[in-house]
Amino acid sequence: MAKFKSVVIFLAIFCLIGIIHGALLNSINVFVTWLLIGIWLIYSFKVLKNIKQYREFNSPHNTAFFTIGPVLMGIFYSVWSNFTGLLGENLLESTDLYLSWWSILFGFPYILYGSISLYRCFKKYNVIHFRRKSIKARTFGFILGISILLFIIIYWISFYSIIDFYESLITPLHFLIDLNLLILLISTILLLIVPGLFGAQTPLPQLTRDYIARRTSRLNNLTSPTPNRQRQTVRTTTRSSPTPSTRTVARTTRSVSRSARSTPTTNRYSTSSREKKTTQTVGRRATGPVRRKKTVTKISNFNLYKPKAARLSTEDFKCIFCFKLPEYPKDNGRGIILCPKCKYPAHADEFKDWLQSSNLCSRCNTPIPSSFRRNPKTISVKNYIIVIKHFVSNRR
Ligand SMILES: [Zn+2]
Ligand SMILES: [Zn+2]
Repeated sequence: MAKFKSVVIFLAIFCLIGIIHGALLNSINVFVTWLLIGIWLIYSFKVLKNIKQYREFNSPHNTAFFTIGPVLMGIFYSVWSNFTGLLGENLLESTDLYLSWWSILFGFPYILYGSISLYRCFKKYNVIHFRRKSIKARTFGFILGISILLFIIIYWISFYSIIDFYESLITPLHFLIDLNLLILLISTILLLIVPGLFGAQTPLPQLTRDYIARRTSRLNNLTSPTPNRQRQTVRTTTRSSPTPSTRTVARTTRSVSRSARSTPTTNRYSTSSREKKTTQTVGRRATGPVRRKKTVTKISNFNLYKPKAARLSTEDFKCIFCFKLPEYPKDNGRGIILCPKCKYPAHADEFKDWLQSSNLCSRCNTPIPSSFRRNPKTISVKNYIIVIKHFVSNRR
């Protein structure tokens, strides 16, 4: 709320400057221009803040905020160069093209940013996120690119054919073609053709069954026998499946028995159908008497347990080795260890197995400090589920 207040105050200051300056020059254009400078500064501040945050979490900028926003800003501020009351002198004299300090300062940075984002839609990103939804990046790139073209063309046609309409709103100060928009038009056409139509994208490895199986078998090769065997017997007795000789067998039987189990279970976490396809075990509510007797310890600072991702989903709380969400009664006693750097979770036993052969985090490849290796901080599964709930339900 304090943030909102400071934004309002900031805008009010620019509004005031605009009113005074506009009244002195007797021009609405000057007033609106000052207001737009205020909005531009606020937006740019927000962009820089988000970039900083995303860099900290090492996240790609494949969100609507970083793709649509800059394009809209670039187009709008370039369009305004026909109206601007400040910095509007044409630097390109004796041509039909227009370039002013206004377009260089306020339009061009976002025109450039928008074009780079569009390029990344075709070449770098797989998907673009809209809050909790996502769309294929290439499809999105085509939609965005074509919208840009349509918008610029419609704007030009309307601007030059129904000038009266624009004059009734606000007086255009010149009728030259803005160089920014021309650059954006040309670059968008090029981007739609070169990386768009003719460029092939190299797909990233998908989280398929094969991929998971490879990871699991790699993990099994690392297994140190003693602690696991103990755990195994405990598990098999509770699940009354035939005693498995190796861990792999245990895994497969477990997953089979789980899928065969037909008792109605409620999904604790709403997950998309896509997630369910790749991993059949998504968090389940503990049925029966075990259901939440009491919350054990209070977690004072949830941020200590927050995986370093800008956008959290249940995916971020899956064990980095077995790709399963910690489940309470089932995994009880196993414990969860978080990577000290990326804070992604792993089952404690699997994490320790992994450390036998590597001193890098399996997910972020950061070296794990030897003090942490000797004495890793373990959280109970029960508590970690509280952490998951905290972050996943907060996002709704
Ligand atoms: Zn695991
Ligand atoms: Zn890590």
